[in-house]
Amino acid sequence: MDHFDIRDGVMHAEGVSLETLAAEVGTPFYCYSTATIERHYRVFADAVAGLGDGNPLVAFAVKANPNLSVLATLARMGAGADVVSGGELARALAAGVPANRIVFSGVGKQPHEMAAGIDAGILQFNVESEAEIGMLAAVAATRGVRVDMAIRVNPAVNPGTHAKISTGGQDSKFGIPIERCHAAFVTAAGHASLNPIGVAAHIGSQLTDLSPIESCIGRLGELAAGLRAAGHPVDRIDVGGGLGVPYRADQPAPPEPAVYAAMVARATKGWNCRLMFEPGRMIVGNAGVMVAGVILVKEGTTKTFVVTDAGMNDLLRPSLYGAWHDIRALRPVAGRMTATVVGPVCESGDTFADDREMEPVGAGDRIAFMTAGAYGATMASTYNSRPLVPEVMVSGDRWAIVSERNQPAAMLALDALAPWL
Ligand SMILES: *Cc1c(COP(=O)(O)O)cnc(C)c1O
Repeated sequence: MDHFDIRDGVMHAEGVSLETLAAEVGTPFYCYSTATIERHYRVFADAVAGLGDGNPLVAFAVKANPNLSVLATLARMGAGADVVSGGELARALAAGVPANRIVFSGVGKQPHEMAAGIDAGILQFNVESEAEIGMLAAVAATRGVRVDMAIRVNPAVNPGTHAKISTGGQDSKFGIPIERCHAAFVTAAGHASLNPIGVAAHIGSQLTDLSPIESCIGRLGELAAGLRAAGHPVDRIDVGGGLGVPYRADQPAPPEPAVYAAMVARATKGWNCRLMFEPGRMIVGNAGVMVAGVILVKEGTTKTFVVTDAGMNDLLRPSLYGAWHDIRALRPVAGRMTATVVGPVCESGDTFADDREMEPVGAGDRIAFMTAGAYGATMASTYNSRPLVPEVMVSGDRWAIVSERNQPAAMLALDALAPWL
């Protein structure tokens, strides 16, 4: 479900024509739909509303889309934030996410990032190694506080997703191996500056099958039961994010939030603790598109190349994960073409789609890469000295540039000539 539709022959984001935006902003650019973000958050939050102790936390995974306006839209609806760096923490706070709804995850938090989280008064740290327990204890001690933390568990569950977005397998760098988590919790409890209060897991992204999540939750439950039996309070259980979104119109959609919530309700029955969720992609994936211009169409020996003004530096997912984005014309016409859609970057991996059957487009036309709201602009780079792609947000008939295209002169200004040159 999204708010990108063809109206009067032109694709619109809610009430705004993407052709109008392209003329005003230039291509490529990302466009986000406020109504879609709000709807997805509402559907998810409503689905999990009564679970656990009745006060679940939905902490949006900021890395999926850290744009300030996106975060502020979610903050106004009551969302929390799952952050993985000091930079994301600063963004969440700047967007108005209350500190007591912020969770700090990540395998390599640095002492200065921990200190920033402690000073802001965040809800909890999800600690991912025994070494990190000692680090956090030391930083908290210098601040003279006792910080709430959860143990992030590596549950050794294969989530059945792409290897590069799989985080729960035994050999993944994430979390503490589950057989050592009880001991790690006890170690943490021995530090006066730490208050271990929960267990957490996040097994991967773009999950389309609920059973690995269910087995992961089962393992968290066993761990929590063992800890409780040993006299440790386990008041919070963070089940992570990972719910998939439909990328292809021609394939079955992943489970709906209501189905996911019913599974969680079943798997956590009687636990009597605060449940925490960290959805990212599910909230923003379908709420964004990337609009690009077609520079030219080039005939190869066996392929027809559509060369766009967007490159892998603007939308990395296809070259990084082999990900699929539906590609649609902003002004669809009758007929079909088969084309390999590529960017201008000097890498063979700068390919968005290979021999794709799509609406016919030609030089000067504009296209939209659908479902680009998650892990899109946030992964953009300036490779090939290309400007950073701008972001636009739409709400009804209104629109605003919410991240500027940086200009070549500004990029050049970051460099300096070494004094000996
Ligand atoms: C990336 C991440 C998420 C969000 O994953 P989605 O697939 O976008 O829902 C949640 N929690 C943690 C710890 C993450 O690293």
